[in-house]
Amino acid sequence: MLRSLFVLLSLGLFSASPVFAEKTLSGKPYTKSTDLDAINIDTRLPDALHSDLPELGDYSQTILSAQDEQRIAAQILREVAVSDEVLQDVEIADYLQILGNRLAAASDDKQQSFNFFVVKDPTINAFAMPGGVIGVHTGLFLASHSESELASVLGHEIGHVTQHHLARILAKQKTDTFKNIAGIALALLVARTNPELASGALSASSAAEIQRQLGYTREHEREADRVGLNVLKNAGFDPRGMTAFFITLQRGSRFVDSSSPSFLRTHPLTSERISDVENRVVNMPYKQVGSSLGYYFVRAKLRANQGLAQVAIDQFQRNIKEGRYANEIAEHYGLAIAMLRQSDVAGASAQVQWLDAHAVQSAFVENVKARIAVVEDNPKKAGKQYNAALKRYPEDRALIYGYAEHFLAIKQTKKMITLVKEKQKLYIADPYFYTLLSKAYLLEHKDLLRFQAQGEAYYRQYNVDKAAEQMDFATKAKDGSFYEKSIVEARLKELRRLQEISKPTS
Ligand SMILES: [Zn+2]
Repeated sequence: MLRSLFVLLSLGLFSASPVFAEKTLSGKPYTKSTDLDAINIDTRLPDALHSDLPELGDYSQTILSAQDEQRIAAQILREVAVSDEVLQDVEIADYLQILGNRLAAASDDKQQSFNFFVVKDPTINAFAMPGGVIGVHTGLFLASHSESELASVLGHEIGHVTQHHLARILAKQKTDTFKNIAGIALALLVARTNPELASGALSASSAAEIQRQLGYTREHEREADRVGLNVLKNAGFDPRGMTAFFITLQRGSRFVDSSSPSFLRTHPLTSERISDVENRVVNMPYKQVGSSLGYYFVRAKLRANQGLAQVAIDQFQRNIKEGRYANEIAEHYGLAIAMLRQSDVAGASAQVQWLDAHAVQSAFVENVKARIAVVEDNPKKAGKQYNAALKRYPEDRALIYGYAEHFLAIKQTKKMITLVKEKQKLYIADPYFYTLLSKAYLLEHKDLLRFQAQGEAYYRQYNVDKAAEQMDFATKAKDGSFYEKSIVEARLKELRRLQEISKPTS
């Protein structure tokens, strides 16, 4: 079931803004040129490619309206927000989103917004879904050898999205087929967390049939590579990261279980594809681009948290001893994280001391210091650390979450509410800030505010129905001022209206 799900997930590529934002199909004209060979002439002039990428089809031929795309994206993001298979780690999520935004900003389609998320899956893969929603497997982070390699895959997926490949594939299908596919894709997405719910939604044979109908073509792959390469270069990464990743893929695929979904299955890597990219890269000026410390930290954190803690600890210790690492700092950081899994405060503190002695400055390290204080059950120390760290990294969400949770744990709700309200301005779309507020109001026995905050949290998890339900509770709460009541009543009306327009039109 996961496999067939994957097939479907790998196909998404529509243009849509994130849900509830203003609609935004890119208004740029699409020509009907399909003369792919003509593109190759431009390999000598890579910069020129940027302005005259041909389009494979007319977007107006597609059968999805912007509203349809937004609706599908909303449903997907609703699952993403609560899925057990999605890595709910704010440090890693923010790293990926910032990296993805940097690449997306270097693409031609500035209108398109992207949502990136990490899937707990050891296989090497990434996939694009409707509305610019892009999933990245933990296996891809770990298999990559540089940030440019990782970025090259994101760039490729961004290319599938901005070139509307799936929309074009779907345009060739009958409308009925598409409607089924949308329904099935959503059912399968649910299956990621809730297999029995979706069993029977799709038989293996129909999944295979859909795959046959909806696979990316070689032209799509070539175009996604070409867009990805430009995005990579324009965002300041090493374009050779893409050819390097092809090698990583070819090596990695030998060890990957053949039954598991992999990048190669959904994005076939042909020798033609490789040489096409190689030819382009050869003509680009050589550029040495180092990977960021954040890239190494994210990889170390993933390694530290997978499998048995003791196995991870042994591995980090062995690597440090034998000097086998891509980045020594990240190895010590990863060891500290793995040790904290066993509540080894002394061991983790020793690693942090090493990091301090080597003048490592990073919010990742500040977070570990705070975590150590939390694990050793020293709220005073933790509070001091969070406070100091947030002065240096005022926008770091992991620190903000940690500090808020600290206040909640010691029942200092007033301080928590002040902190969250101040930081919330930086992350207006973040549901967790509202969840925190709701918890604080619960402790303060403030019903209206508690339901209101919970409703806003659901709204930001793309769950309008549950948001309206909570807002309804808020309007019926016995407490709250006249002013507060009028706010939740107005909000409830707005949510009811959204419920209406987000119903399928068919
Ligand atoms: Zn592809």
